[in-house]
Amino acid sequence: MSMNNGLHRFKRMLNRELSHLSEMSRSGVQVSEYISSTFLDKQNEVELLPPNQKEQNSAPCQTSGVGVLSEDSRTTLPRFGVHTEHEDVLAQELENLDKWNFSIFTVAQLSCNRPLSCIMFAIFQERDLMKTFRMPEDTLMAYVMTLEDHYHASVSYHNSLHAADVTQSTHVLLSTPALRAVFTDLEILAALFAAAIHDVDHPGVSNQFLINTNSELALMYNDESVLENHHLAVGFKLLYEENCDIFQNLSKRQRQSLRRMVIDMVLATDMSKHMSLLANLKTMVETKKVTSSGVLLLDHYTDRIEVLRIMVHCADLSNPTKPLAVYCQWTERIMEEFFRQGDKERERGMEISAMCDRHTASVEKSQVGFIDYIVHPLWETWGDLVHPDAQEMLDTLEDNRDWYHSIMPQSPSPPAEQDDVDHFQFHPNIEGDGQDLIQERCGEKDDGGLDETENEEDVEMKDRNEEGEDTEKKTEDTTEENTELQKETEEPEPPAVVPAVAAMDCGRVVD
Ligand code: AMP
Ligand code: MG
Ligand code: ZN
Repeated sequence: MSMNNGLHRFKRMLNRELSHLSEMSRSGVQVSEYISSTFLDKQNEVELLPPNQKEQNSAPCQTSGVGVLSEDSRTTLPRFGVHTEHEDVLAQELENLDKWNFSIFTVAQLSCNRPLSCIMFAIFQERDLMKTFRMPEDTLMAYVMTLEDHYHASVSYHNSLHAADVTQSTHVLLSTPALRAVFTDLEILAALFAAAIHDVDHPGVSNQFLINTNSELALMYNDESVLENHHLAVGFKLLYEENCDIFQNLSKRQRQSLRRMVIDMVLATDMSKHMSLLANLKTMVETKKVTSSGVLLLDHYTDRIEVLRIMVHCADLSNPTKPLAVYCQWTERIMEEFFRQGDKERERGMEISAMCDRHTASVEKSQVGFIDYIVHPLWETWGDLVHPDAQEMLDTLEDNRDWYHSIMPQSPSPPAEQDDVDHFQFHPNIEGDGQDLIQERCGEKDDGGLDETENEEDVEMKDRNEEGEDTEKKTEDTTEENTELQKETEEPEPPAVVPAVAAMDCGRVVD
């Protein structure tokens, strides 16, 4: 299949699924609009647009760029690059650096809230990158601390903890056995650097918000991947701060090549590019070649950079693949950030973006939708590429999805037709700022069908039965498409970790 055909087909299929979802209930409309507005590139895709949004003109938003450094950016170098009173405990946690269940939250607590600086230093040390690229340690620390200072501590999700998480996740993915010895040191350096800078100076609002409010950034980047362009500009600009040029000893060619790769990877974190990345990944899976030792054959640079773009994107969308207690904290944070954007929109008299209205959003339902339509299709395909390396992530993802589904408030009786009446019910399992927002009752119905005939390509779209029926999903006229529809036979038991989630302090580390 050509990449373009595949892409258009995925988009069509997802669009149909989302239309179904929208028809189910009011909260279904929200989830559908969130997915459509965030993960579909709507240029030239008029038919995919959610209902017209009323645009409001308002004064440009001020966004900060490269600014003044905090004091501790220039101090002498401790063992892990950062100050800590818990060196031994931190050392113990860092032993899990190569693991998927590594806790970046713990590192933040043990490193005086310097998770990004700490993790970068640890990863660069472990991978011997300072030696390979003749990077002075103090320059590395000056850069990473300056970088960390340019993430906003007041933003609840897109702060340096998220950057640290994506960097550590990328570090683990780079070491996946199926990609052993595939990437050059420069490519590894580029991927880690891209992950570290990929959201720097994030103002806590979306590209669409910046565009709708005629922000300075949207004007600067002509509405195209506004945030991602800005993250790149800031990330590279900071190299020119005092003693911050970590690439000073790279050759000109290496610098150019690294810059090109980093730009490619960070621009690919624009979620509106998601479907085209997924289509490319599908094509790679279909044409993949492996060596006798099971390692992927990626001879051409274009294939390697494509895998790296997808890898960083996977790391950026990895929250739901992490242990449930960790995933729940990310959810709390992202929802709070969405709600604050919604508050701003309300104050300005703008239409409130999907999932951003703290009075109506359905957190659990949005997570289930986010997994079913975005995260699972992506990670499942990544799993096909690196088979069987991603099994741990996929198992956790499916358990987490089932857990969110199990705490989704259920209708008292199966709705005969559309149930878009709001009911409210307190759910005691999640604590934190947004707990009152998890109370929304979302009636829903799922007839589960893809209503149009597709071609013979083997595409799997997750379509879970919200009612827990054990009957086969109706596929209506879907005769030609080899579509695998999954169903659930009964509600899953919440995982054992749930009490820990309820007890956990989901407050922001960095506020
Ligand atoms: P980024 O903004 O670069 O971190 O890209 C990730 C985007 O994916 C976020 O802005 C959200 O739109 C979406 N996303 C990531 N994690 C979640 C989550 N747990 N729940 C809902 N949306 C998410
Ligand atoms: Mg981003
Ligand atoms: Zn991100």
